[in-house]
Amino acid sequence: MADDRKSPEARQQMTDLEKVRHSCAHVLATAILRIWPEAQFAAGPPVENGFYYDLEMDHHIAPADFGLIETEMKKVVKANEPFERIVVSREEAVRLAKEGRLGALGPRTEPSKFKMDILQGIPEGEEISLYRNGDFTDLCAGPHVLRTGNIGAFKLTSIASAYYKGDSNNPQLQRVYGTAFKTRAELEQYFNQIEEAKKRDHRKLGRELELFEIDDEVGPGLVLWKPKGAIIRKELQTFISEELRHQGYTEVFTPHIGKLALYRTSGHYPYYRDSQFPPLIEAATLTELAAEGCSCAELSNRLKTGDVDGYLLKPMNCPMHIKIYASSLHSYRDLPIRLAEFGTVYRWEQSGELGGMTRVRGFTQDDAHIFCTEEQVLPEIQGCLQLVLKVLGTLGLSEYRVRIGLRDVDSAKYVGSPEQWERAEDALRQSAKTLGVPYSEEPGEAAFYGPKIDFIVKDVIGRDWQLGTVQVDYNLPERFGLTYVAPDNTARRPVMIHRAPFGSLERFCGVLIEHFAGSFPVWLTPEQARVLPISDKHVEYARSVLNRLLEGQIRATIDESSDKIGAKIRLAQLQKVSYMLVLGAREEEAGKIAVRSRKNGDEGAFSVSDFVERIQKEIKERQRD
Ligand SMILES: [Zn+2]
Ligand SMILES: [Zn+2]
Repeated sequence: MADDRKSPEARQQMTDLEKVRHSCAHVLATAILRIWPEAQFAAGPPVENGFYYDLEMDHHIAPADFGLIETEMKKVVKANEPFERIVVSREEAVRLAKEGRLGALGPRTEPSKFKMDILQGIPEGEEISLYRNGDFTDLCAGPHVLRTGNIGAFKLTSIASAYYKGDSNNPQLQRVYGTAFKTRAELEQYFNQIEEAKKRDHRKLGRELELFEIDDEVGPGLVLWKPKGAIIRKELQTFISEELRHQGYTEVFTPHIGKLALYRTSGHYPYYRDSQFPPLIEAATLTELAAEGCSCAELSNRLKTGDVDGYLLKPMNCPMHIKIYASSLHSYRDLPIRLAEFGTVYRWEQSGELGGMTRVRGFTQDDAHIFCTEEQVLPEIQGCLQLVLKVLGTLGLSEYRVRIGLRDVDSAKYVGSPEQWERAEDALRQSAKTLGVPYSEEPGEAAFYGPKIDFIVKDVIGRDWQLGTVQVDYNLPERFGLTYVAPDNTARRPVMIHRAPFGSLERFCGVLIEHFAGSFPVWLTPEQARVLPISDKHVEYARSVLNRLLEGQIRATIDESSDKIGAKIRLAQLQKVSYMLVLGAREEEAGKIAVRSRKNGDEGAFSVSDFVERIQKEIKERQRD
């Protein structure tokens, strides 16, 4: 982090909540100074989820001190002191810093050294302002809330160390983190949500429920789908495929590697090579290069220019789908052509950025490419949005919005004509509007080759997740010289739409694990039913019930252990099995089963066929719990 000084204009952009939080940093400093008057303060900005203040002093603040500090802070908030803004001359500010009065309750023997340094960093001609609440005066551009009493609720959260201005040549400071909200209820909700998020963490649940594994020897960021996780993935794929078939997509398969030449044509190589695995080179070529005494640096250059060819682990599916399109002649009557693939791609993510299923190095996109005419862009985008509505609705992720990335009209970096852009941007806007999806427009956020839509969903506990995207592309059809035959028999360029609305199956499953807290609806859940005989005497009957379930295509197992029935139920509940079927003498005599569901508990006695019919219906309709 470099010097993160913001312009006074940028500072005024603070949201109301940021103002509350930044003001709370002043209150924190006030409280610390009442206890340790010698503390030297540096910067105290609002950050995501709260604020911090950096300071230097001999006493090392520990969480055990938080109670004491918070008590002082409460007094400051209760006193409801106004935040008073005072504009001073540079000379006056320097004098106050020398007297130790900035970031302080009054004059001190030591100068306010960090404030002095910050002061010197303020450009000539920029207004210098102080903020005062009670006895505390700070050098600050603001803004703040009106009074300390406007800080509804706060809490100190952690301590870290940080170099002054993020530079390791500078002194190391103590960084005290806290958070603040306008109301106590919001503060409580925030901490509840953190607790809830911890419980739902897909890395933790993924291991506990045996869904997936990441093994260092296989490679960081490379996901091993275990049998139970594979079931969830397969069910999702089937669901999405069904919807794609309804929308007239056809599925294709393409290889995991392709020639560098292909990615040179598409432009993915060498431009994005920092985010790709390095190229693979044929053994014979390597031998030749070694004989020539080619150095690594030379090789890298020759790969870039195309003098040496190799293969690339597929970073994108698009070029392969383009080759499928280009392999036959197309008339305007054939369009749109929609090629879908659960295509696995490989990207080089820095190891520090990897995490569970949501940041990985190999992943399978719910990818598709649509080749269409200009006029078909609008209905095709609408189709993409409809698919998203259907899938997210089924999964109970019904709160979502889209972000439309538009071009920067003043820039010349874009391919395609301004008329094409206007039409495509309008198509994105129209689609969002007609489907009643909340959307925001972000000028300058489009790629150079076309405008796009990103999807952001809210999960059950209110967190935002960015999923995939729909992107209009004028560039690749040009680079690959794609055509179709127009009604007047001339060759025209099709428009291409890339769409992977759920991003990748890895990421989507990670989000779903957290959204459902591991308790998947019956159609997705790895184990739909478990037969639990009360004792050995009923095992035979239990096995016959299990067979009936398996015949009915229900994913079911049996617990033949010698455990007590209570323990069997607890285990099944813990493993988030949808239905537990308890069998004892009474059930066996009546030819019935006692059904317990994960969500409702005891549901009473059913005949096997009634239960099979019921669960099959739930699965077929993809009902939610
Ligand atoms: Zn301030
Ligand atoms: Zn693509």
